[in-house]
Amino acid sequence: MPDLTDPKTQGHFSLGNSPDRNFICAFSNRALGNMSLFYGNTSESLFNRKKFLDPLGIDYQDLVCAKQIHSSFIRYVTETDRGKGALAYDSSLDDTDALIANVGHLPLAIFTADCLSVFLYDPVKPAIGLVHAGWRSTHENIAVKTIQLMREILNTDAASLWVGFGPCIRSCCYEVARDLDEVFSGSLIQRDKRYYLDLVQVNKKQLQDAGVKESHMADSRICTSCQNKDFFSYRKEGKSCGRQMSVMMLR
Ligand SMILES: [Zn+2]
Repeated sequence: MPDLTDPKTQGHFSLGNSPDRNFICAFSNRALGNMSLFYGNTSESLFNRKKFLDPLGIDYQDLVCAKQIHSSFIRYVTETDRGKGALAYDSSLDDTDALIANVGHLPLAIFTADCLSVFLYDPVKPAIGLVHAGWRSTHENIAVKTIQLMREILNTDAASLWVGFGPCIRSCCYEVARDLDEVFSGSLIQRDKRYYLDLVQVNKKQLQDAGVKESHMADSRICTSCQNKDFFSYRKEGKSCGRQMSVMMLR
């Protein structure tokens, strides 16, 4: 696994010791530029996507993207969705924060600047899932709802899933309102009378409770705020900041 803290490295991301490489799983960094066609300066986003995805063997025109709204709406993506949101934001799937698919060479993308991306891989079907998990969606249990939908549609067994956590703002930096402690059943971290949320830990716990093995989870350990030099951070830069892309595709 490459050193993901190195700004020159584009984040090919390994899902722990998952048994095969039947999939591609990666995220971009600041050096590759803004990947969003909606947020930040979008004038070079298509060029940036091509630059990021070409070396991965992914055609940027095939991407399936969504209009993310911090919900727990999930979409089962099929061949007819190929290219939605790839060249224009308006063509993205409406109101969706997680994508699942079992079609080969159909790349799924989500965009983040502090929120967590969760990669899901079922080597048995095979099938994949990609989740955009900010605090609202995490509170709505989006990762677990995604694997439930994978079970319903694709017969995925949680015990055989492999999970990866992309870059996000970590509990070192993610100060939240005290009220959220109740929302998250007292799981916030308290330091000097301030409250911090550990998005990865909460998602991990939810997934474990749903039957995913801890030994099947891998974490990029990147904090977008601490490593703001190399990753976009909404908290650090405000509304107009760019977005990194998390991408996943079955080969
Ligand atoms: Zn941090």
